[in-house]
Amino acid sequence: MNSGNKPNVTQIVAVGGIVIIGVLFFAVGKYLSGRGPVVIDSGFRPVMGTFAHIIAVAADSNTAQKSIEAAFDQLVAVDNLMSDYKPDSQLSLVNREAFKNPVKISKPLFEVLSRSIEFSKKTDGAFDVTVGPLVDLFHTAGEKGIAPTEDEIAQAKAKTGFEKLILDEENKTVKFAVDGMRLDLGGIAKGYSVDKAIEAMKKCGALGGLVAAAGDIRVSGTPPKGKSFWLVGLQDPDKVSNSTDTAETFLTLHLKDMAVSTSGDYRRFTTIDGKKYSHIIDAKTGTSSKGLTSVTVIAPSSIDADALATSISVMGVEKGLELIKTIPQTDAILIPSQNHREIIKTEGVEKYTDNK
Ligand code: ADP
Ligand code: MG
Repeated sequence: MNSGNKPNVTQIVAVGGIVIIGVLFFAVGKYLSGRGPVVIDSGFRPVMGTFAHIIAVAADSNTAQKSIEAAFDQLVAVDNLMSDYKPDSQLSLVNREAFKNPVKISKPLFEVLSRSIEFSKKTDGAFDVTVGPLVDLFHTAGEKGIAPTEDEIAQAKAKTGFEKLILDEENKTVKFAVDGMRLDLGGIAKGYSVDKAIEAMKKCGALGGLVAAAGDIRVSGTPPKGKSFWLVGLQDPDKVSNSTDTAETFLTLHLKDMAVSTSGDYRRFTTIDGKKYSHIIDAKTGTSSKGLTSVTVIAPSSIDADALATSISVMGVEKGLELIKTIPQTDAILIPSQNHREIIKTEGVEKYTDNK
């Protein structure tokens, strides 16, 4: 890492998959500036099956450190509630029980499920957290190296569809209409947790903060070192690297109080018979989504950026851009699969990329 000299750029490499987020300027651990606010960089910590990275700007180091710990606590808490890998998470309980009986759930899980249904309606079903059975099918197919049959896809599809997910607002319960349903919050929970982490930092008194959980990043308040913006670099999908030293970016965003999420098939995918299958599934066709290698969404909140990036990966360029244009303060940067040199941006992206 470029420690030592000219620490003037905080750059995060956002990718739609696991591992890569690099802060290219803060070397390790802490950086304490001589005058003005204190900046503490957490470095990478494993959480939610990936790595998260938090930077806090505060009046003193105690506040900065406290903010970082409070933010990580939120990431862990959301994971404990919403992970489908953890058998004792509330989501796993729902997946086991919600066909038999309505399951009473916590406010955060209810909020994420309500927002999920909202996104399903807004995206005409492109975003759908009931994709679990299809995700499982493609996962198993990937392990076996045999593509799923039409019949298997039809069977899994019968167990998906957001209209089969029944929420009771008054009693805060969730119920499945069909046996064998399985919720998968992989396309939205990380974004939600980043919002909660930013909230916690503010509550602790941080002047500014950055929370990055793999490809979901949000910045808030004062950037480090008297800069006007937080700089977030988007990784070139053709030059994916596990090393943040060599990670190449194709665009640097200048952000203030915004979130950015990247989804895509260039890091997380399965190959069966030489064919690439994305980890994002089109619940309508029951197949792995295709067409976009990288989808980045800039929005005021991380939950929105996360869910919309996943949605557009399913919707494709045309419908995706149409949707984004209807949502205020929201922009997108798309890289189609056939031509990685073509970068499609909504008009508003310019204000984040101008020389500032
Ligand atoms: P990442 O997890 O790499 O950050 P995303 O935010 O795009 O990427 O989420 C992808 C995950 O979302 C998948 O691994 C799966 O768990 C879930 N998912 C897959 N297809 C859909 C879909 N159509 N709608 C909602 N979630 C989905
Ligand atoms: Mg997402």
